Amino acid sequence: MAKERAKEKQKEKETKQKENQKQKICNDKNCPIHGSIALRGRKFKGIVTRKHIKQKKVTIEFERMVFIRKYERFAKKITRIHAHLPDCMQDEIAVGDVVEVHETRPISKMIHFVVTRKIKSKAK
Ligand SMILES: [Zn+2]
Repeated sequence: MAKERAKEKQKEKETKQKENQKQKICNDKNCPIHGSIALRGRKFKGIVTRKHIKQKKVTIEFERMVFIRKYERFAKKITRIHAHLPDCMQDEIAVGDVVEVHETRPISKMIHFVVTRKIKSKAK
């Protein structure tokens, strides 16, 4: 009897795990949707150029125009932002995608932005 009970318990555990995987329960406290981090400040859109899975971090890039007074012309410059990638978006976002980032309190020395949504997949 005890063995059967143990088996049942195991089955329950397995089904629960499967459900969790399906729903992608997000235990990330720094997730803007499921966590407790507050968004504030500036928003940017950019292309993901690097993805660090272990550090839950992405690097995004976008161009901006800077006026150079000496030449009375604009020059292109690239801004790079390091942003936190929440657990629930880990699979969704890949290098080359266009994402939106929103400013938060500093999460670490480099990171004070968090990815809020995916705008476009990588152009093929
Ligand atoms: Zn989440």
